[in-house]
This record gives sequence, structure tokens and C-alpha cells, in this order.
Amino acid sequence: MIRFHIKILTAPFLSVASMVSGMKQTYGQYGIGVDLVSQATLDIPDLATRTVVNVGGCSGAATGDQAALFGMPMAMWSGWINLGKPTGGFGGRPATVSRSSQYCNVYVRGADNALWGRAWDGSWHNWQKLDGGLVLASDPVADSMAPDHEHVFARGTDGNVHQKWWTQASSWSSWKSLGAPQGGFIGAPATVSRSSQYCNVYVRGADNALWGRAWDGSWHGWQRHDDGGRLSAPPAPGSMTSEHEHIFGRGMSGGLWQKWWLAPTRATEIVVFFILGNTGSAGSLNGCATYPPGQPGAVVTQTASQWTLAHEVGHVLGLQHCDGPPPNCPCLAYGDLMTGCGTGKITQSPPVLGPFEQIFLKIFPLSPL
Ligand SMILES: [Zn+2]
Repeated sequence: MIRFHIKILTAPFLSVASMVSGMKQTYGQYGIGVDLVSQATLDIPDLATRTVVNVGGCSGAATGDQAALFGMPMAMWSGWINLGKPTGGFGGRPATVSRSSQYCNVYVRGADNALWGRAWDGSWHNWQKLDGGLVLASDPVADSMAPDHEHVFARGTDGNVHQKWWTQASSWSSWKSLGAPQGGFIGAPATVSRSSQYCNVYVRGADNALWGRAWDGSWHGWQRHDDGGRLSAPPAPGSMTSEHEHIFGRGMSGGLWQKWWLAPTRATEIVVFFILGNTGSAGSLNGCATYPPGQPGAVVTQTASQWTLAHEVGHVLGLQHCDGPPPNCPCLAYGDLMTGCGTGKITQSPPVLGPFEQIFLKIFPLSPL
């Protein structure tokens, strides 16, 4: 199989298709397939200087001209394709989404402030007004939650976020108002979907705080991020995995800020919080391994020793103290991790786990559950 690419700077007088056909016929006689992997017309004005190529004597090493032609980064790009505009034109920034490798849609806020779109499914369809009565007061944003779903969000003239969605089964919905944070919001909404089960909409509140609304089958209320963050522009959310989201925003001093979210840990995962110190009847501790039901974990305080973390996790995994409290501390003598006399007293490096502790760990992983 011969795999090759065609990049056209100046089209030949004969059609490229006829030449490809001729190539297939020629090699086909000998059972050799021909696969034209890609064909692009590099309609790039700034590449005009590459259309006449010095090939030197056309033998031996390539010339500098040839090296420049074959190595040009712009050869990976197409030229700009004119997609026209809706009747009357449009303003602002277009939004695009691709729900699968077969489809691409682009949306704009028309000059009539209606939502307009153009669809690609192998070729471009005409501009279509996706009416429904909403007068847009911001550029739209678009996203997809599944190969048979996409949705568009925009600000309405009522100051609320509005959503319109499409599914293979039901086509376009009418516009649905998602309201607005208390006090309203500034600029356009932004959206992200980390999986087909979840979608979030974020805005810059009128109080400059980040606000969001979450969908997980139904919409939850507007939630303010009470973290002291303030935005001077609408936020930009993204997702790197189905258990991760992050949001970028421009701060009040012009710097870029990021915050992220990770899915809650599973009931079989241990979470350790490092804290300043503890209060309670137990007195001052290096750490503590009691935790709420279904949330195995421990706290480790500022006074912890090198072995406190390992010790507390040992408790979470089901290990009891092997001695203690002081002065009854035989475990310290042979350096057992699970001494009840305080991890600050362990001198063996590293401490050991006794034979029974090793067995318990195998039998009772997370046994307190
Ligand atoms: Zn302990």
C-alpha cells in the first residue's frame, strides 16, 4: 500500500483527481494499493513565494528551496476558508463544538441578536437561524455531552443565562432560562462537561466572584465560590478527565488564576488532612485516625514525626496499638510502627510491622469499614 499526501500550492492544469486515478490504475495492475491519505489546497497568500522552487540539478541532495518547501510549518495548515455570514452579519466571537468526528457546528450571535449556526457533516450546510425568540445579549458558547447531544448557552436581554439543546432523538429544544446568580452576572456564560453525566455553567457574578450552576440529571441552584477570588473577565472552564475540572480567570490585578476540582474520593480511598493541631479530650496528638462513616482518613498535626503518617494510615487499614500507653512501651524496643506510646518516640528507621500486624494488613484492609 502506498500512502501519500497531496498539498497544492498551484493546481496543475489537469485535475489532481485524474492523476491520482492514473496512479491507482498503474500500481493496481501489480496488486499495489494507493491510499491518498489527505489532500489540501494551501490557499495561503504568504506561501506564494514557494510556488516556484529551485530544484538545482535535480539530482543528489535537495536544495535549500526544497528543504524550505518540505519543512514549512504552514504546510500542516489549510488556508482560510470563507464560511460567509448569516443574513445581516454577526458580531463577536463564534463558538464551535464537535459532538463526534463526523460533525462540527459553529454558532454566532447574529446582527439581529438571534442565534445562528452552520453545520458541517462532510460538507458545510447553509447558515440557519436557530430562532426561538431569545434576543442574545452575549456571544454564545457551545458544548457537547455525548455524540448525540450538544447545547448552546448565552446571556439574554433579561440578564439570565439561557440554554438551548439538541439531541438526535428530539432535535432542538426551545430556550430554557437558567436564571442568574443573586445580583446578576457580567458578560457571557461559559460551560464545560466533564462527562455525559455532568455539565456546569460558570459566570462572573456582578460581585466579581465566580458563580456556577451544575447539572447532573437536573439543574442545581446557583452556587457562589466563597473563596475570596475576584474576576475581572468571564471565566474559562475546562476538563482534563471525567473526574477533573478547572477554571481559569483574569484576576483584578490582571493576572491569570486557576482553580480546579477533583471528584470526591471513593469509599476505599484514604484521605489524610495535615492540620495545625488538635483539641479534644485525647490531649495533644501527632495524629488521629478516626473518621466519619464511609470516609476513611486521618489527620496529622504539625508536631508529627517522620512516622506519624504511616502510623495513622496503619490505623485506618485496621491496625491497633501494639503497646502503650506509656510507660508500658515494649513495642518501642523493637521499633514497631504501631506503638501506642507516640510516634515521636520511635527511634528505629524505618520502624517495622510485627508478624501479626503483617497478617492483619492482608486480612483486614480497611477493616474498620
Ligand atoms: Zn496510634
